[in-house]
Amino acid sequence: MTTLRLLLADQLDPQHPWFDSVDEGVVHVFMEVRQETDHVLHHAQKVLAMFAGMRELARQLREAGHRVRHVAVDDPSNRQSFTDNLDALVAHYQATAVQYQAPDDWRVDAQLARWADARRAEGLQVDMVDTDHFLTTRDEAAEIFAKRKQWLMEHFYRQMRLKHRVLLDAEGQPEGGQWNFDHDNRKPWPGTPAEPADWRTPHDHSALWATIEAAGVKTFGDPQAERLAWPLNRAEALQHLQAFVTHALPHFGDYQDALTGKAWRLFHSLLSFALNVKMLRPREVIDAAEAAWHAGHVPLAAAEGFIRQILGWREYVRGVYWAQMPGYDEKNHFGHALPLPPWFWTGDTQMACMAQAVGQSLREAYAHHIQRLMVIGNFALLAGLDPQAVHRWYLGVYIDAIEWVELPNTLGMSQFADGGLLATKPYVSSAAYIDRMGDHCKGCHYRKKERIGERACPFNALYWDFHLRYDDQLRRNPRIGMVYRNIDKMDEAERDAIQQQARGIQARLDRL
Ligand code: FAD
Repeated sequence: MTTLRLLLADQLDPQHPWFDSVDEGVVHVFMEVRQETDHVLHHAQKVLAMFAGMRELARQLREAGHRVRHVAVDDPSNRQSFTDNLDALVAHYQATAVQYQAPDDWRVDAQLARWADARRAEGLQVDMVDTDHFLTTRDEAAEIFAKRKQWLMEHFYRQMRLKHRVLLDAEGQPEGGQWNFDHDNRKPWPGTPAEPADWRTPHDHSALWATIEAAGVKTFGDPQAERLAWPLNRAEALQHLQAFVTHALPHFGDYQDALTGKAWRLFHSLLSFALNVKMLRPREVIDAAEAAWHAGHVPLAAAEGFIRQILGWREYVRGVYWAQMPGYDEKNHFGHALPLPPWFWTGDTQMACMAQAVGQSLREAYAHHIQRLMVIGNFALLAGLDPQAVHRWYLGVYIDAIEWVELPNTLGMSQFADGGLLATKPYVSSAAYIDRMGDHCKGCHYRKKERIGERACPFNALYWDFHLRYDDQLRRNPRIGMVYRNIDKMDEAERDAIQQQARGIQARLDRL
């Protein structure tokens, strides 16, 4: 009587109850499958880190006495799909039961659910169990927002603070008398305090990288195979958490929205990969930040700002994803259709902010939130790039990109492709914001103050043109009133010039 337990590449939690005791009748199964490497083009580091992470947990489980079957990408018996491999393994082990942890991606969830139904009908016992990771259920956000037209994150976040008793005083009120310190968290970075040294430990994974390449897996970006620095097990992930809390969290709040060409991650945590593959649990990360505040090590605004990302945004986007899928991935509110310019794959553009954000994404498989939202995403929306193509790029490029979290952020928050379910207004700006928040505009080929002309920053004409194009949809939004008051002061010639300039930019996107 053998039970197979399937573990996916983003289910690397060694503390899952599955591993509480050793059972000879249970085989833990890991698979490196082409269905996952090939469904979009991924960054090389992402494939490498996911494979290396699975191999590391497989090793640890074996060491602890568990039975493990690891189906390597180049294993001749590998049928390269979860369900085809499961069929083969059920036959091989004469298994009577299969268990799997709830997948976070709708696509894999549907695939395994279909397979489970078919095999149950044939008498196999198939059960899905919880990952024990999230603080909310898949449906919780939908229940909180039942019948509301707009899903305000802030509403959800306050409910979560109350429910999970995070940053509350003895009376159940928010610590510091405020739920949200976002207004304190919008400073540009003057160059000091210095960005902390990279606390991650590089490892040589060139042998695994050679295997991945030899198997024919197509990727893009720099693999950094000889110095891969993402955490590959829980112990490393905990060290990273500790290092972040000590060295970066005290300044996280202040410079959360800052942009700079002089540092690539500033005071961000780099914890999204460890969280999303479940080496870390969100609750322990939140507790670490709250404890640091209680100990007087970090300001309340920093702790609250960081906690809001995890207890608020991360759980919230997951709820949006499960409430909106299937179909959310096809939304295209503005009907945008332009293809991504080729420099999305090289970083080779004269716009300094875009060159830094895209180039860094290709090199590090990482960009921080404001680079993703207010540089790359901002440009993509203003330029009218196809949101599905933008989504595929984001899903491929980032080390932490797993669809449940990437899709609502990209299609909803950044591209407004859901028509405003998630964002109260499109996240767009002209060069003025990028200049205010950072140092990219100094020395950029383009001129931040100009709207018209060859050297005018493309963000400017695109920004005003975007509001002119969608006047009928956006004018009534009270959060955008100021923009339309400025537009109303423009004469027709000015508007025409902006629109012409924007059409010119759209026609030469590949040469910007
Ligand atoms: P920090 O800035 O240190 O934040 C701490 C943690 O908070 C993160 O590790 C993450 O777990 C969580 N978090 C912060 N913001 C968000 C958010 N908006 N949604 C969900 N969780 C959040 N995050 C992903 O994990 N995977 C993605 O594929 C992804 N795609 C994105 C695409 C776009 C267009 C945008 C605008 C944001 C995206 N985010 C994504 C959210 C956020 O940008 C990343 O979580 C963050 O940059 C990861 O870096 P960090 O760990 O240093 O984060």
